[in-house]
Amino acid sequence: AKNVQELEKVENGSEKPGCSSRILVFVRLRPMAKKEKEAGSRCCVKIVNRRDVYLTEFASENDYLRLKRLRGRHFTFDASFPDSTTQQEVYTTTTAELVEAVLQGRNGSVFCYGATGAGKTYTMLGTMENPGVMVLAIKDLFTKIRQRSCDGSHVVHLSYLEVYNETVRDLLSPGRPLVLREDKQGIVAAGLTQYRAYSTDEVMALLQRGNQNRTTEPTRANETSSRSHAILQVVVEYKVKNASLDVINKVGKLSLIDLAGSERALATDQRTLRSLEGANINRSLLALSSCINALVEGKKHIPYRNSKLTQLLKDSLGGVCNTVMIANISPSNLSFGETQNTLHWADRAKEIRTKFQACEANDELLEVPESGTDQAKLLLELQK
Ligand code: ADP
Ligand code: MG
Repeated sequence: AKNVQELEKVENGSEKPGCSSRILVFVRLRPMAKKEKEAGSRCCVKIVNRRDVYLTEFASENDYLRLKRLRGRHFTFDASFPDSTTQQEVYTTTTAELVEAVLQGRNGSVFCYGATGAGKTYTMLGTMENPGVMVLAIKDLFTKIRQRSCDGSHVVHLSYLEVYNETVRDLLSPGRPLVLREDKQGIVAAGLTQYRAYSTDEVMALLQRGNQNRTTEPTRANETSSRSHAILQVVVEYKVKNASLDVINKVGKLSLIDLAGSERALATDQRTLRSLEGANINRSLLALSSCINALVEGKKHIPYRNSKLTQLLKDSLGGVCNTVMIANISPSNLSFGETQNTLHWADRAKEIRTKFQACEANDELLEVPESGTDQAKLLLELQK
């Protein structure tokens, strides 16, 4: 705990706008679904001041002070979105800054976490009428590229892949499973399609098609639920001239991740048939929670290797990266347990510190804290 406090001081002392060295955590509440209404559910989530989330089940609606004292009933996040929030607002608040950073050669990642049916795919992919973060990010990226470069020097590549049953597949060109290997840039999926994108018009259709290639299974919780994790990678490459007029290549990578449902495998039926699958889904999400725990506790060893998902997310969690987490929740009291569980993990993720990143547009170097400070020690540990 001391580490984190010390770190906070260091951060506050050198804070710059638009720069963050910790995971930003947001919560999005979705509207009550027709099915939930029909099942007689009550709303058990209240969002106040766009920050505070209260679980109001078994308490009088406005008894916030009492809820504040109850464990696991009151949470605060960087922002909490009520069910009226538009896709554009969610994009602007959570991801727009990361798109700007990617255009400056830095990495960013956004991942959606939550139970099946909580609104992860809606937030990430959305619909034709209400496109989500993935599409709005690419749209914004192209607008910004058009605004700033007349020479067409930016090249945008898209990859869309899934982790299902501990197997990695290419969603843009389905076929044999991909092998993960480590190279200079980190963990890469060998042979993954790099789709050269020129405009947003084609992207939504491409992503919709990719999403249809996701492995979906009927479960009791939600008929179209997905047990797969989907990762969209947007890589922007461009050339700049430095002070001595040498041309240098810059690369920024944005990863947008739609995680599989976080509910326990036991919550769905066909348990026997799908036990292997269930175990593997648990393995990936369990590995993710172990990594989050290890990062929070400042452990030397972060168990990324325990699953394909955590290998792929390595540079999004502990790496040099701006990371955003969006936790999706349902308002229904029938999902109270899952919602509380999701909020618990989101709350814990607030403690994760990613490596410090320089913010100046023309700064080539990573900001390195003075050696011997707690922050420097923590960074050293994270780098191990
Ligand atoms: P998940 O991917 O977490 O399993 P979905 O994104 O598929 O959940 O959402 C479940 C259902 O709720 C879908 O029919 C989706 O269109 C709807 N939904 C989710 N979030 C919203 C929202 N913010 N506004 C309107 N409908 C939503
Ligand atoms: Mg989904």
